[in-house]
Amino acid sequence: MHEAAMMRGAVQEALGQMSAADGTRITRVVLVLGASGHFTEDVARQHFALNALATPAENAVLEIEWLPATYSCFACLHTFASVLPPEAVTCPACGGVALEIGHADVCYIREIEVEKPSVASEFTVPAPLHVSGGQS
Ligand SMILES: [Zn+2]
Repeated sequence: MHEAAMMRGAVQEALGQMSAADGTRITRVVLVLGASGHFTEDVARQHFALNALATPAENAVLEIEWLPATYSCFACLHTFASVLPPEAVTCPACGGVALEIGHADVCYIREIEVEKPSVASEFTVPAPLHVSGGQS
């Protein structure tokens, strides 16, 4: 499916960004999706979880930002943008039926947060013992 392929690509992209940042685990992903009717939030989350399974992105918090699609009203030709599912969109000017005239088929990672391996402080050698005096 189209959505599955897009989301698989997004997870791959997130994992690539994680490696580039020397991370070992992804804690948060901000995903940008075009509101085009392909995805609902539930579907997007399901596909993300499926593709992230058994990868360092598995438990990442997914945040979705929707890019609005453009609609034009059949009745009054008013043009407007909406992030609602196409079947729920009506013209804000006259309440008429609106037709989607343009959308960005977008699915990309805007931001990730990664967890890095904790750097062990190798140089905390015990301070040299100062043998004090000893004279009596
Ligand atoms: Zn209208």
